Amino acid sequence: MNRAFLLSALAAVIAAASLHAEETLPLKSVNKANEIIDAALEAHGGAENLANLNSLVQESHFVNYANGQSRRPNPPWDKGEQENFNAIDFEQGIFINRNIGVGGGYEFDGGNIINGEDSWQLNYRAGTAAPIAEPDLNTTSGPFIRVTPALLMKQLQARRQVSNWLGVTDYNGRPHDVVTLIMEVGPGLSLYFDQETHMLNRMERVLPPFGQVEYRFEDYTQIDGIAFNKTFRLLLNGDDNLEVKNKVIKVNAPLAEYAQLDGNLDKIPAVVPDEFNLQEIDEGVFLVGGTGAYGLFVEMNDHIVAIGGTQGAAARMAEVRKHIADKPIRYGVLTHHHSDHVPGAADYAAEGATIITFKENETVVRNAAGDGDATLEFVDNRMSLTDGERTVELYDIGPTPHAEHLLVAYLPKEGILFEADHFPQPRTGPLPPAVPATLAFAEAVDRLNLDVNKIVGAHSPRIGSPAELQAVIESASAIAASAP
Ligand SMILES: [Zn+2]
Repeated sequence: MNRAFLLSALAAVIAAASLHAEETLPLKSVNKANEIIDAALEAHGGAENLANLNSLVQESHFVNYANGQSRRPNPPWDKGEQENFNAIDFEQGIFINRNIGVGGGYEFDGGNIINGEDSWQLNYRAGTAAPIAEPDLNTTSGPFIRVTPALLMKQLQARRQVSNWLGVTDYNGRPHDVVTLIMEVGPGLSLYFDQETHMLNRMERVLPPFGQVEYRFEDYTQIDGIAFNKTFRLLLNGDDNLEVKNKVIKVNAPLAEYAQLDGNLDKIPAVVPDEFNLQEIDEGVFLVGGTGAYGLFVEMNDHIVAIGGTQGAAARMAEVRKHIADKPIRYGVLTHHHSDHVPGAADYAAEGATIITFKENETVVRNAAGDGDATLEFVDNRMSLTDGERTVELYDIGPTPHAEHLLVAYLPKEGILFEADHFPQPRTGPLPPAVPATLAFAEAVDRLNLDVNKIVGAHSPRIGSPAELQAVIESASAIAASAP
């Protein structure tokens, strides 16, 4: 057997193998994805230009629709407006953002500097800067990358080996190839490329339990040879959620000036991960939760009342069971209809508990419970749950700038008040000045003549006091008085 024959035999074997391999669906999908990515890189400015895109500064105007987060449980949704700033430098691993806006009874002006050891969470309204103990560039910059086609193209360029072609579908009446992108963190993305222009016109990701998030990139223009979209729209389950106009786009501008910490901000204690925990804040009264979602549990003579509907209620109930093993959760109280305050309905329904809410929120709550037969009880203005010994009073303090109907839970004997979204309490550092929602909450506490000594909330493990509530109102009026 001579060498030439051996080589040609080997070539035949390889050809047969690749011929066979081309027939498998996964290989076809990967090869096709690579073809589409190459054409798209070309259309968005070329592989070299995109590889050389190291820093980006963008200023945008946002109009956001408060889907599932409006004062009423149904559309039309309330609108809010924001000014948004983002800047990223890949080589140096720096990301800076700032959001200024109003909505939902809130006023906000905050952001982040992610820059290794010199990373900060900024609250310009409160005038504070908190060091970030565990800065995470990928997680913090993810939202900016996902709304910026040039940066998504860079991600595709760097991570193409994990991309798949999903198939062809029509979008805006034109055939589009759909290719997946797996970023460092978060669920996979599906990118829609026009078959003719090779432009990225749409992106989608699926986020249970909220559903489908759709990103539309519109009105492309060229800046330094790279394609940038002048407008952007985001839809949640097919409903408009964000309309964005990109006002300023700077390619490869230095970021040093933005990464400087504003000297006027007060440095406050570090932001640390919010670990799951249970606190017994009075005998048989537990505040339980983590990662910004907390619930209150009240032990009664032969049952437990659970208050708060944020995600994770099942884990909170399991934790409480370690302390009270022999009593059922009889009631699950939902504070309001917002999408982040109803997921607990499913856990309470699974537990066989009666869900306490408002008649106006019935549809939203039944949908969240995923059980048309869940037992619901409606509060009309106020409700009292008592075992003769201990009492939990529920009050509708709505309408507030945040929600038309809003339940707070008050334990008169213990002086404990549980609220959601009206008295924001960061876990550490000073409390921010009162927002309009906080003022409405404070007025209700006054009007109802509640004798409170502990104020706890659905988003924090911190135990606040009426004196602190008074202080944030005073600091807000000081800001208002000094405004031009
Ligand atoms: Zn809310």
